[in-house]
Amino acid sequence: MKIVVIGGGAAGFFAALSCKMHHPDYDVCILEQSDKLLAKVKVSGGGRCNLTHACFENSQLAKFYPRGGKQLKKAFSQFNTKDTVQWFESRGVKLKTEEDNRMFPVADNSQTIIDCLMREADKLGVVIQKMIAITEIRKIENDFILLTNGKAPSTARRVTADKIIIASGGSPKIEGFNWLKQLGHTIVPPVPSLFTFNMPNESIKKLMGVVANPVSIKIKGVGTQNSASLRSEGALLITHWGMSGPAVLKLSSWGARKLNAMNYKFDVLINWLGDKNEQQVRDWINAELKNIGKRQVGNKNPFLLTNRLWLYFLEKNEINAETTWNHLKKKNLNKLLNTLVNDCYKAEGKTTFKEEFVTCGGVSLEDVSFETMESKVCHGIYFAGEVLDIDAVTGGFNFQAAWTTGFIAGKLGRSPLK
Ligand SMILES: Cc1cc2nc3c(=O)[nH]c(=O)nc-3n(C[C@H](O)[C@H](O)[C@H](O)COP(=O)(O)OP(=O)(O)OC[C@H]3O[C@@H](n4cnc5c(N)ncnc54)[C@H](O)[C@@H]3O)c2cc1C
Repeated sequence: MKIVVIGGGAAGFFAALSCKMHHPDYDVCILEQSDKLLAKVKVSGGGRCNLTHACFENSQLAKFYPRGGKQLKKAFSQFNTKDTVQWFESRGVKLKTEEDNRMFPVADNSQTIIDCLMREADKLGVVIQKMIAITEIRKIENDFILLTNGKAPSTARRVTADKIIIASGGSPKIEGFNWLKQLGHTIVPPVPSLFTFNMPNESIKKLMGVVANPVSIKIKGVGTQNSASLRSEGALLITHWGMSGPAVLKLSSWGARKLNAMNYKFDVLINWLGDKNEQQVRDWINAELKNIGKRQVGNKNPFLLTNRLWLYFLEKNEINAETTWNHLKKKNLNKLLNTLVNDCYKAEGKTTFKEEFVTCGGVSLEDVSFETMESKVCHGIYFAGEVLDIDAVTGGFNFQAAWTTGFIAGKLGRSPLK
């Protein structure tokens, strides 16, 4: 039995290794279009590879995936974060968990992950061919013919296979999926996920480098299936072009499609005090007045906000920083409270987050059985990784999806057609 894996990234390697582990007698070959293997693994996590996340409960883990969470929840019962940790550690890659639960190799070097995958591929006899791009797949009875535009002189223009695992990653353009559409698959149009907000006309940018944590942010007038508003919590970083940080990235991921439809022009509502509402803050200030009443508002910031941000809020509301808390006019206090819990900034564009970006969209999850990762429209074709309409927030979840779907695809189980 000849198995061709298309794509030499995380999902393709893991699928090929799983295939050899489950079917040692099969010929397994990875075809990679470029001259580099595991290129994204190399640059991932700032060169350290954040390969998974220390979340060991499948239903909790699934909640980090704006697209694909429901399907992955089932898939995690076959291979989850615990299995990832065990898989790498049993092959000599020691892992560590950072404070925010992201997991990295102890060596803090993505090369250790690459070396491990390459070593396993060599040990199990996976054949790897670079510089072969698949341009078309034809099914003739039960066999497949793959047309290639092989750049290497010795490369054949046609490759045959009994089964194919497609792990070709995401594409920013829908045309990049045409060869999969030709096989009958529905393609969910790709749009960027994990981006930061550009705010060309907001003066808050002068505070670049300032972090507020935790804040609660939402997009004005945009809801989700489960909630009236699209919102997220966490740290917010002010940058020289607008806003970034985990809270912003999370929101960009959950709102990827809606924000794209709005052409990245929207109002961001910020509660700088996290989960406190206006009345709670007002009551708190009133109770504190006996302690802080005689102090100047500019000198006494009663919240865990940086002084630069606090002074900016006073300036924004035209409050003299030398006014004492006791002399702060009711009208000014009201304005200040509104800024603290319901501040509004105009986003006009986005910037791709360089550390970890993914595309939302790809092969529709409706077309794939998550028991086996086999296509429901074309028997013998399996999918793994980012080629599918699966993506997650930052934190190691995108690689976890690649390991999980790759592992299952490599088993080559059979599913009924649609
Ligand atoms: C800069 C950066 C940092 C990241 N850091 C992290 C991180 O720390 N943690 C995390 O969880 N996620 C991270 N991600 C996301 C993660 O890298 C991806 O989700 C993951 O690599 C997807 O793996 P994949 O194998 O599905 O796709 P890819 O890694 O994209 O691999 C697909 C491969 O298929 C090849 N290919 C495509 N089409 C064809 C074809 N027709 N024929 C032959 N070969 C083909 C491509 O050349 C490529 O090598 C990061 C992403 C980026 C861009």
